[in-house]
Amino acid sequence: MNAPLPMKVASEVKQAAGQAYEAVSRASNEVAGRLAQQLASNTTGEVLFSRADRGRYATDASIYQVVPTGVFIPRTTGDVKLALDICRDLKVPIVARGGGTSQCGQTVGAGLVIDHSKHVRNILHVDAANRTAQVEPGIVLDHLNAALKKLGLWYPVDVSTSAQATLGGMAGNNSCGSRSIAYGNMVHNVLGIEAWSADGQLLDFGRFEHSTGPARAIGERVQAMAALLAPEIDSRWPKVLRRVAGYNLDIFRNQNEKPYTADGSVNLAHLLVGSEGTLALTKSLTLQLAPLPTHKVLGVVNFPTFYKAMDSAQHIVKMGGPSLTAVELVDRTMIDLSLQNPAFAPIVRGAVIGQPDAVLLVEFSGDDKPALVRKVDELVELMGELGLPGSVVRMVDAEPQRKLWDVRKAGLNIMMSLKGDGKPVSFIEDCAVPLEHLAEYTDALTQVFRKHGSKGTWYAHASVGTLHVRPILDMRTDGAPKMRAIAEEASALVRKYKGAYSGEHGDGLCRGEWIEWQFGPKINEAFAQIKQLFDPQQLFAPNRIINPPRMDDTRLMRFPPRYKVIPLKTALDWQPWDVQNDPATERTSAPGTGGDPAHGFAKAVEMCNNNGHCRKFDAGTMCPSYRVTRDEQHLTRGRANTLRLALSGQLGSDGLASEEVAQAMDLCVSCKGCKRDCPTGVDMAKMKIEFLHHYKAKHGYTLKDRLIARLPDYAAHASGFAWLLNLRNRVPLLASLGEKLLGFSARRSLPEWQGTHFFNTPHKTATRDEVLAAAKPVVLFVDTFNGFFESANAQAALKVLQAAGYTVHIAQKLQADGKHLCCGRTYLSSGMVDEARAKAREVVDSLLPFARKGIAVVGLEPSCLLTLRDEMLSIGLGTDAQAVADAALLFEEFLAREAKAGHLEALKAKLRPLDRQVLLHGHCHQKAFAVVSPIIDVLQLVPGMQCELVESSCCGMAGSFGYEASHHDVSMQMAELSLLPAVRAKPGAIVVADGTSCRHQIHDGAQREAIHAAVLLAGQL
Ligand SMILES: Cc1cc2nc3c(=O)[nH]c(=O)nc-3n(C[C@H](O)[C@H](O)[C@H](O)COP(=O)(O)OP(=O)(O)OC[C@H]3O[C@@H](n4cnc5c(N)ncnc54)[C@H](O)[C@@H]3O)c2cc1C
Ligand code: SF4
Ligand code: SF4
Repeated sequence: MNAPLPMKVASEVKQAAGQAYEAVSRASNEVAGRLAQQLASNTTGEVLFSRADRGRYATDASIYQVVPTGVFIPRTTGDVKLALDICRDLKVPIVARGGGTSQCGQTVGAGLVIDHSKHVRNILHVDAANRTAQVEPGIVLDHLNAALKKLGLWYPVDVSTSAQATLGGMAGNNSCGSRSIAYGNMVHNVLGIEAWSADGQLLDFGRFEHSTGPARAIGERVQAMAALLAPEIDSRWPKVLRRVAGYNLDIFRNQNEKPYTADGSVNLAHLLVGSEGTLALTKSLTLQLAPLPTHKVLGVVNFPTFYKAMDSAQHIVKMGGPSLTAVELVDRTMIDLSLQNPAFAPIVRGAVIGQPDAVLLVEFSGDDKPALVRKVDELVELMGELGLPGSVVRMVDAEPQRKLWDVRKAGLNIMMSLKGDGKPVSFIEDCAVPLEHLAEYTDALTQVFRKHGSKGTWYAHASVGTLHVRPILDMRTDGAPKMRAIAEEASALVRKYKGAYSGEHGDGLCRGEWIEWQFGPKINEAFAQIKQLFDPQQLFAPNRIINPPRMDDTRLMRFPPRYKVIPLKTALDWQPWDVQNDPATERTSAPGTGGDPAHGFAKAVEMCNNNGHCRKFDAGTMCPSYRVTRDEQHLTRGRANTLRLALSGQLGSDGLASEEVAQAMDLCVSCKGCKRDCPTGVDMAKMKIEFLHHYKAKHGYTLKDRLIARLPDYAAHASGFAWLLNLRNRVPLLASLGEKLLGFSARRSLPEWQGTHFFNTPHKTATRDEVLAAAKPVVLFVDTFNGFFESANAQAALKVLQAAGYTVHIAQKLQADGKHLCCGRTYLSSGMVDEARAKAREVVDSLLPFARKGIAVVGLEPSCLLTLRDEMLSIGLGTDAQAVADAALLFEEFLAREAKAGHLEALKAKLRPLDRQVLLHGHCHQKAFAVVSPIIDVLQLVPGMQCELVESSCCGMAGSFGYEASHHDVSMQMAELSLLPAVRAKPGAIVVADGTSCRHQIHDGAQREAIHAAVLLAGQL
């Protein structure tokens, strides 16, 4: 650290910051080359300077976009230090980054973005006895807590983004969780930070009284400032728990409702908490852990009016005592949205009484369950005293509580999925006001929204007076001026009620300019001096916190008024996204009226709001390629951003056909995990089809592409040469040749052709007319894979259906041409949409009469059958396609439905017991369509069935993906994430997997033969 410099006044510091920023912007082209070269030759990290990489790191979960000079992914903390030295020499600013989930633009900026989340994420030390842990900044909160669980400990700053947020990012933003009333914010739970100052010195920030050297010198300077500004601090500083703006100058003069340290000492690490990467680069953090509470109970209080809910929060908090851990708001809009969701409706119905205008989820936690239950009794009494007897629903058991918390989170996601250019925008979403003013504040702000023709849905942390609300604004039209107008009125309210304007998500670009407003010029100048002490060269995130730009500077926005989409004729129907919405009512216009030059495709892509939910590793499918690579490029968010950049011309004139887009799409296995798991429903599998259509139109199809796509067309002929074609699996030389010439991995066997297959074997099945007239009719749709390669599955399904008493017809073309009916999946996967449409048309023509009569069309291969319910509706086949989709069911869906209706008694009587355990792997598309549970239901028809579901993401084979030599390794890594270890762990179990490629992957990776559920059932007959 340099010897402390004479203090500059704030204006000088501002000027210096401005100059550094401008200089880099101007010189970035020249400097970028040298920066990239030095990083590449001196560090072991990844150096990403391509247009697409920089574009992917130009945004976070805010409305802003600033393209950085480059991106650096350090492999070690040593790399971070080297990058810092290089940047200092070249005068390139640094923007530190974790998960990039900041809502206010903290992680966007000119300079070098350093992404700590991929590698710099080790747990360095855990001291269970003293309940502390030392971690690297890139570790994700959920991952840390998973490791701590076995010790009965957790890190209790439970942000909603716990599956993505890194500890470095959480410290950067002074993040706060739902349970902050009990545990406080980040600042209350950080014990120490090791960080590099701008000159490259590693400083240890901890208890002031123990600190030495440059850290102590900084502390003393800040202490002197705090002393000098004592009256100013006392009068200007918000006296609430949730204040995260500016720097924590009040460590020396506590203003927070909850002192930063339990013993009143000063901790210099707290200066860095909330500094948003503007003061130093964090190398490690020492955290205060907490014991995991043994029990939780919940009281759900129903309110007739929103105002009453807000007014009651203060009384609930007063009554709550130390065991109160959360008071969370869910308003009428969210209740309604949740009730529209079939999965959530029963849970919500169990929590509401009548039609409340709002509910508060009041949670008590601790080790003594009876005592917690008594607290709920007290809550009931309190509500009676407040004039609301009988308003509390008690939830004492863990499971219903968990489900209700899930609904609270999902409700927000549904809100964010509003289609059209108007979006709920965060900029006043976390103002904190003292609880006694909460009702008046929310009421007044609602009026402000109304005045500006918008509305907001309220949710979150009533316990601490921080309610989230995002008015709907269209940033491409009048969003920016409206944003400022609303911000000004909101700030006046915050001042009136003596609150904090920035109460949870940080300052970033949208609240930076309000820091001086909040604290006044003198404290703001002290902040500038703190910045100067740490970072005299303005190396760390210049123009943030100090000298920030205007919040409504549209040059810094992702969707400025000048934003343009390149006109595009799409292959698929994206019209449902091509809409606009009314911000006051949230009603959307008719499909196709949104004015999108890409006919809705651009708007579908823009549904990604960068919240980063796809960066997750827990249950669910999304996103397998990210899970193995941890690369932003191979993440749903990264792909959506790449597509957005391409569609808006920010990747050059090739648009969708550019190599950058191809690279981002390359590892997308089209698992549809995002279609289900992404809060805004970004459906990358469908987008990949659209992309491939355009890309291949320009670059052409390879022989491999054609062989894969046209498989259904030549399968019948090829099966006549089964023995010859299967030689490829027996003669290594042929496999090698196949890899060289075609690109199929020699390390894999290919599916075995069958000379005698389902389609050339006679079956006793019904004709079209017979099935149409039958009492128990069903149509079996046999796909290419189960027809030509694994016909035993189709035979098994036929056997089961007939044993259950159904009249079965095998779906055939209306005009027989020697070929089978095909859903078009292989064509779609290759981007050949026109050919897929022709196939699908045949399917619709053939199956429509059955569908119209309500006869189920049952399929075995999830990716084929579910094509009928998904893509077939987007290729311009009209309402007939919808009718067929409505009739299309997977084999188990059909049987589960029939069993429920009492139609399978005969089958049940025939099934013999099974005394082996069954391990079930759901195909990704089954997961995406939430149709895994019918498989379990149907397997349970077998007496003695013990079925365990593998918590797996995609198997990694994904159609032809895993067979391709270029994808073999990634494919195996995906399988090794959870599926193959789970299979190996149960050597005696029968493995059930309905997907043909899943079975192949299990065979290749675990040398075990998985079977289709139909085969298992048929085997028990
Ligand atoms: C849907 C949604 C819900 C959210 N819910 C919450 C919530 O409940 N509570 C809450 O507090 N926030 C919430 N947030 C905001 C955000 O998720 C949190 O602030 C989170 O802690 C940020 O973590 P991150 O790893 O994504 O950090 P990033 O966004 O990557 O970075 C955050 C800040 O930390 C700095 N930083 C990162 N690493 C370092 C380092 N090594 N050295 C120095 N500075 C560093 C960055 O420069 C930046 O200023 C939410 C956001 C979204 C999108
Ligand atoms: S793809 Fe979906 S989950 Fe991922 S960042 Fe975008 S909106 Fe969020
Ligand atoms: S389809 Fe699957 S692999 Fe592709 S982006 Fe979505 S979750 Fe990731």
